[in-house]
Amino acid sequence: MRHAHIEEMTQTHSAVARVPALNIGSPPRFYCDEMLGHLARFLRSAGYDTRLACDGAADRKILREAAEEGRWLLTLDRCIMEHKLSRGVAILLQQGTLDSHVEFLGNHFELDFLEQSFTRCLIDNALLVQASAAHYARVPESSQKLAQEAAKHCPECGRVYWRGSHFQRMRRRLVGWQERRSAETC
Ligand SMILES: [Zn+2]
Repeated sequence: MRHAHIEEMTQTHSAVARVPALNIGSPPRFYCDEMLGHLARFLRSAGYDTRLACDGAADRKILREAAEEGRWLLTLDRCIMEHKLSRGVAILLQQGTLDSHVEFLGNHFELDFLEQSFTRCLIDNALLVQASAAHYARVPESSQKLAQEAAKHCPECGRVYWRGSHFQRMRRRLVGWQERRSAETC
């Protein structure tokens, strides 16, 4: 099992080596297939520009969009890898937990999970802006103090993000991933 896992990763690396110079020097951008919605949310929470495929979107369409937008298509679907457009664009992840996917991507792309964390909307990927006083009014009273310290607003969908319990849970996960990354690179 372990051997198969390593072999898969090696194949992935060889695919990466053929990639045209997309976004060199810029943070990687991602496109998650529809099975990877949870991963997409966490990549967004870490600040990585991540698009999520619509349910039922055709493989060809997704691959073309990923190539045009300079995104890595992350997929669990082996069939996508057989498509000729997948070369240098798609990365096949092993079936596994969110932690295992994040660990692989973190090592492979040398991701930093904290540097740009909580700068994007988890739902639509838009960059967040500082919330105004009008937005604070929509925050529950128990979190008003926290909100006024660091609330952000999504200009696309109107959501307001503040440092409540959901934020703390997500942040703990990002911190854990970053600590493991740091331990491995020491
Ligand atoms: Zn939004």
